[in-house]
Amino acid sequence: MAESFLQGQMRRHVEQFRCAVCGTPSSGPAYESMDGLHHRWSNWNRPANLHWCRDCGRYVCAEHFSLSNGYCAECLEKRYPQARAAD
Ligand SMILES: [Zn+2]
Ligand SMILES: [Zn+2]
Repeated sequence: MAESFLQGQMRRHVEQFRCAVCGTPSSGPAYESMDGLHHRWSNWNRPANLHWCRDCGRYVCAEHFSLSNGYCAECLEKRYPQARAAD
């Protein structure tokens, strides 16, 4: 069966956006809005459930991302090796 346009778009999106640490794929495109309510559209260049690390520029899942620092787990460990000892 031939894949539809949307299926192809989703497949490429998932191949492109996955957690750099554990490989969790994007759940889909992020939704953008002009005013938070109307004119919503899906942004295929942004994953809905992954965060962008401001240090290495990769996407990681919430589990491997530090919201307070904006770094992924690997960059956080490089910068603050002692922070991990707390887990
Ligand atoms: Zn992950
Ligand atoms: Zn990083």
